[in-house]
Amino acid sequence: MQDVVEKVYEQVVARNRGEAEFHQAVREVLESLDPVIAKHPHYADDALLERIVEPERQVIFRVPWVDDAGAVHVNRGFRVEFNSALGPYKGGLRFHPSVNVGIIKFLGFEQVFKNALTAQGIGGGKGGSDFDPHGRSDAEVMRFCQSFMTELSRHIGPSTDVPAGDIGVGGREIGYLFGQYKRLRNAYDAGVLTGKGLAWGGSLVRTEATGYGTVLFAQSMLATRGQTLEGKTVAVSGAGNVAIYAIEKAQKLGAKPITFSDSSGYVVDEAGVDLELLKQVKEVERGRVKDYVERRPGARLVTQGRVWDVPVDVALPCATQNELDGANAATLLKNGCAVVSEGANMPSTPEAVEAFQSAGILYAPGKASNAGGVATSALEMEQNAGRTRWDFATAEAKLDAIMTDIHDSCVAAAEEYGRPGDYVLGANAAGFTRVADVMIAHGIV
Ligand code: NDP
Repeated sequence: MQDVVEKVYEQVVARNRGEAEFHQAVREVLESLDPVIAKHPHYADDALLERIVEPERQVIFRVPWVDDAGAVHVNRGFRVEFNSALGPYKGGLRFHPSVNVGIIKFLGFEQVFKNALTAQGIGGGKGGSDFDPHGRSDAEVMRFCQSFMTELSRHIGPSTDVPAGDIGVGGREIGYLFGQYKRLRNAYDAGVLTGKGLAWGGSLVRTEATGYGTVLFAQSMLATRGQTLEGKTVAVSGAGNVAIYAIEKAQKLGAKPITFSDSSGYVVDEAGVDLELLKQVKEVERGRVKDYVERRPGARLVTQGRVWDVPVDVALPCATQNELDGANAATLLKNGCAVVSEGANMPSTPEAVEAFQSAGILYAPGKASNAGGVATSALEMEQNAGRTRWDFATAEAKLDAIMTDIHDSCVAAAEEYGRPGDYVLGANAAGFTRVADVMIAHGIV
């Protein structure tokens, strides 16, 4: 990295000790900025780089709640409002025991550039809690959400900060969070949260958007080489919102997804994933992947190794950060995988990214390929503001156009800075310059 950029990175490490994921996300972006700063040195003026890596605001709060047996628990809540140059802070809430401030900061930092790529007028933020919803009753999840929102409500609003879902936060949680917000504010501010139910301000296609967008991005990358997804085998990790709709879209485009996973192991279904059964097990029953295998002849559950051991043409990591390391990347490449489109945030380690890029395969970083979710959240905000509702086809056409635009912006930026086909450079450079130009226009704030 250039000296000026390296210095900023060293400051980030020194000031944010122990936040490994945040360091990793910052390093990946800063490394990409070398050719950008070389061509446009003014981006390093007025401590712009130092400002862009520092969140505008970070809130950490106590979340006390009572379980069904009457025992009191205390979790920690977070909201990191990272950058509001382009619009209200926007980004999901994650409920998972691994959540800490470094993870929320990495996600918030990624979100800033992702949201810029969507061109939807949204800033970047992220939040969540170390609460684990697994195995909790609906009543317990509701009480937790109500306590969490009691504090969060002081910091959010339709023009200030608009959270959504992420790992462990789906339609049920957004419902409880919205109910408590409405009660506290005595106002029906539908635009304060996205991912809402269709009967109370949600948008058609929001549920599908992240997974669909990830597959659309893979399709756009393949088109640059005159290929399509038709007939290709696909490995998907995760079995949550993003994974399920990535599988659905891949099937619609003629590909054959043969895997999915959760933290208990991965499933290989050589006949092709039975999507209805997967939805029944995961979305309706909130079950584990073994429940699918028990009802699906020919499918097998593997509890050793990773889903990336399965030979496929296309890999779609849709579970969590750093789930695909250098060794997994080497295995995928050895087995002939030629496309990786990330549905999760930062699922590939730096070693894996390096391996994909050196091999010259089509590799899309999550901040570009999974941006369809937040883009559709912005469409939900737009509908809420206009008190209107679009039909599925209208919302889907907008998602398709946004994903094509993000893809093309990445391609153009990679070409402009001398590395055609490098989607990491393309996404980071295009996202960064959009945010940086507006930060410059707003002065030192
Ligand atoms: P869900 O909670 O719906 O699903 C997450 C899935 O990943 C589950 O199957 C879960 O298994 C698995 N998983 C999570 N953490 C781990 C872990 N540490 N080890 C192994 N498996 C794990 O979340 P989403 O599908 O919404 O999110 C998945 C990824 O996509 C995340 O990286 C998220 O940040 C990203 N993303 C999501 C967007 C959205 O619109 N929802 C938008 C953009 C990105 P288990 O149940 O066993 O924990």
